[in-house]
Amino acid sequence: MTKTEKYDRGPNGDLYCSPTLCGLGCTRAHYEKVKAKAQKLCARLGPAWKPNVHENLGWHYSASLGDVTVHESKHGCTAMYNGPSQFIGDDKDPRRAVVKAYAAAEKAVALQMAANAVVRKALLSVPRLPAPVGVLRA
Ligand SMILES: [Zn+2]
Repeated sequence: MTKTEKYDRGPNGDLYCSPTLCGLGCTRAHYEKVKAKAQKLCARLGPAWKPNVHENLGWHYSASLGDVTVHESKHGCTAMYNGPSQFIGDDKDPRRAVVKAYAAAEKAVALQMAANAVVRKALLSVPRLPAPVGVLRA
């Protein structure tokens, strides 16, 4: 079965649904509508953003740039950065959602740096305990 055969099915060829990945009976019209929404979302975010369209009990879309993905729903947009930690921003405007995710990451970095300073101070106050190699200098 070729990739096209897997999707183009139905009596009139109007089904566009993977029987193994989905099976919901998605239509080509819905796929095209979702694909257009993904492209529209990318147009709002900027030329570096790439559209993602995937099938999982229906067709879904998002836009991504590196490890940042923006999902859009009738409730608004959610920007997610999935790195060593996950940072999320929600807003009606996808650009503001990205800004909010970035602000959450910046806040976490500031909190971590403050925690590092506290731990460093505690570590330096411990008498006769050698610092871990490569961590503390001068
Ligand atoms: Zn489907």
